[in-house]
Amino acid sequence: MKVFVVKKAGFCFGVKRAIKLAFDCAKRKNEKVFTWGPLIHNPQVVENLKKKGVCAVEDLRKIKKGTLIIRSHGIHPKILERIKKRKIEVVDATCPFVKRAQKKARLLSHQGYQVAVVGEADHPEVQGIMGYVNGSALVINQNRSKRNLPHFERLGVIAQTTLSLDAFKQTIGELLEKADELKVCNTICHATARAQRATLKLASKVDMMIVVGGHNSANTNRLAKLCKGLRTPTHHIETAKELRRNWFKGKTSVGVTAGTSTPDWLIQEVVESIRKCN
Ligand code: SF4
Repeated sequence: MKVFVVKKAGFCFGVKRAIKLAFDCAKRKNEKVFTWGPLIHNPQVVENLKKKGVCAVEDLRKIKKGTLIIRSHGIHPKILERIKKRKIEVVDATCPFVKRAQKKARLLSHQGYQVAVVGEADHPEVQGIMGYVNGSALVINQNRSKRNLPHFERLGVIAQTTLSLDAFKQTIGELLEKADELKVCNTICHATARAQRATLKLASKVDMMIVVGGHNSANTNRLAKLCKGLRTPTHHIETAKELRRNWFKGKTSVGVTAGTSTPDWLIQEVVESIRKCN
């Protein structure tokens, strides 16, 4: 059985940067280091950070003093204001691609558009973006019907950075008849788009795909969904322990891909375990 791994699967630039900032802070500071929510959507990495003294919090009362790291997903500006008032040192690890989406949302709002974000309403990145338009943005789930949406004079649309390009295109098509004027800003990040393209290419050639990454990771879930969309048998796992030998019976080729929040060592463990299932 041949095992193929998507080139550049795993950590993207934004996640690498956030993790480096967190570990550097933990090394440098004598004080406690916190992250606002889990730094990334990968439980194994969050656990490693905890061992180094970097703890996730989402309640300001739990921070008496220390350094707080804003994760790559960004933060709602009102929460940031409250944090700054408490004189807690802030290290901003918001990914530049997320910052770009925040700025686009604000600009569209200033230009008089009803802002819409295509993505998941409960995702921290989307919740943060909402803060840049005073909570007045609509969140449109790409999988739900757009039938009940009202008609808008001017609608300005952006995407959650990890959305798939196809889902964004399809949603935009559906929104065309919902507005007199539709302005679209493609805010999908390059790393996500590249990983999705490479994953689709590999998934179309192999007998089965293994997608590695947090079950709570939006972009990992999307990779699994894309593979399943090609009708390639696909398993989404967090660690090698979840692999089952019977999945590989009769398979001659297996592809491995990983979300942008999956560390290399987890991908390597999975690849080695798959080889042992041969
Ligand atoms: S997936 Fe894209 S937007 Fe998200 S942290 Fe990585 S580079 Fe930034």
